[in-house]
Amino acid sequence: MVVSTTRKAQTMSTQHGMAATHRVLILGAGYAGMSTAIQLAARVKRRKDVQVTLVNAQERFTERLRLHMTATGQQLAEMSIPELLEGTGAEFVRGWVTAVDANAKIVRIDDNQVLHYDTLVYGLGGMADTEAVPGVEDHAYTLNSAQDAELLADRLARLGRGTVVVGGSGLTGIESAAEIAEQHPELNVVLLGRQEPGAAMNPKAKAYLQAALERLDIRVRSGIEVVKVLPDSVELAGGETIAADVVLWTSGTRVSPLAAVAGLTVDERGRIVTDAALRSVSHPEVYAVGDAAAIRQGYGVMHGTCQGGMPTGVHAAVSIVRALNGKQPKPFRFGYYHTPVSLGRHDAVVQFTHPDDSPRRVYLTGRTAARYKETVTASPWPTYGRMKKMPASGAFWPHGGRFTRIRGVR
Ligand SMILES: Cc1cc2nc3c(=O)[nH]c(=O)nc-3n(C[C@H](O)[C@H](O)[C@H](O)COP(=O)(O)OP(=O)(O)OC[C@H]3O[C@@H](n4cnc5c(N)ncnc54)[C@H](O)[C@@H]3O)c2cc1C
Repeated sequence: MVVSTTRKAQTMSTQHGMAATHRVLILGAGYAGMSTAIQLAARVKRRKDVQVTLVNAQERFTERLRLHMTATGQQLAEMSIPELLEGTGAEFVRGWVTAVDANAKIVRIDDNQVLHYDTLVYGLGGMADTEAVPGVEDHAYTLNSAQDAELLADRLARLGRGTVVVGGSGLTGIESAAEIAEQHPELNVVLLGRQEPGAAMNPKAKAYLQAALERLDIRVRSGIEVVKVLPDSVELAGGETIAADVVLWTSGTRVSPLAAVAGLTVDERGRIVTDAALRSVSHPEVYAVGDAAAIRQGYGVMHGTCQGGMPTGVHAAVSIVRALNGKQPKPFRFGYYHTPVSLGRHDAVVQFTHPDDSPRRVYLTGRTAARYKETVTASPWPTYGRMKKMPASGAFWPHGGRFTRIRGVR
């Protein structure tokens, strides 16, 4: 446990019944929460009246974009969150958030610690939906955390020969199937999903992606519905079963129930519904960022990505500083620009997109695309380092023009 002077200060202020300073508590040090923490800490560094505290389950930063690499036994760089925060004045608390009391403005960590806040930033991310299909929870592996990915890596390393079924033909499913097939050529890999892989890409990019899966000897079955996962197989609608030594589940998304239980207004997936400035519509002292937030743009509600998650984190920090200075926060606007998909370590497809995420004609393939994908994947950590010294360097992203504009919101 990292000793937190913030908690001491919080305890003192609670004992004396008044808050000495404005306490900003950030939950989750993923791509979005880290962006908020670094951006905010850099902007309030010289202020004595603001405390920034970041809570996360682990001290090590989870590179979620690389979890399919972790799942195939590849070693990733060590990235320490407390080390990154050094010199910023922000405090780090390692622990598991077990409850949020939005009326009392407190958060429980590991059930036995209490942290108070004046402003809360909720960035606990999302995960594959393991509840919708029976048997997934009991028999399937996931990439929901680094530990989950390591469990899968261990199983694959011990498997020898066998069949791995990847449930879900979205981007995580495609990247995982390709990585497993490349790192474990002795295994049969089957990719199952409702949609054909690359369905949202332009026809040429999609054809390239599907040819790459074929080259990797991945058996693709699309247009199907998995209805049950059993210890040694998956059952499809219609009764067919596919034998599986290992099932990896990547389909669907859900979020922690903490926000809903706290009484915050959430959408049908449990994500916190925000106003244009990323504040909870029911509790404006709570900001929601990243995959845990339901953020409306002109094209619809944003879907979970790192490319959009980091800007939400930065925007929340900037808005908090504006509010502390008695100014109105500005509306958040974000337009997508690419969909990079790795196909093993040496191949990829990068589909460039319109701000509403629909495909443009332009795309990259092969080693150029693989290098592009690697550059994007490696960029968050150095971005945080730069933001520490120069917060404005993290405040640039495409705003999406007419695609993101919402009538009546300025
Ligand atoms: C294999 C894979 C590949 C991907 N590739 C891409 C890509 O190429 N481009 C892209 O834009 N997106 C990609 N994504 C999606 C991207 O990773 C997510 O959109 C992004 O991680 C969301 O960031 P976040 O900060 O909201 O959540 P996360 O990064 O998930 O961070 C949430 C943090 O909160 C912590 N946490 C959660 N619950 C608790 C709790 N109760 N108590 C304490 N801590 C908690 C977690 O440990 C984690 O550190 C990929 C995802 C996967 C799985």
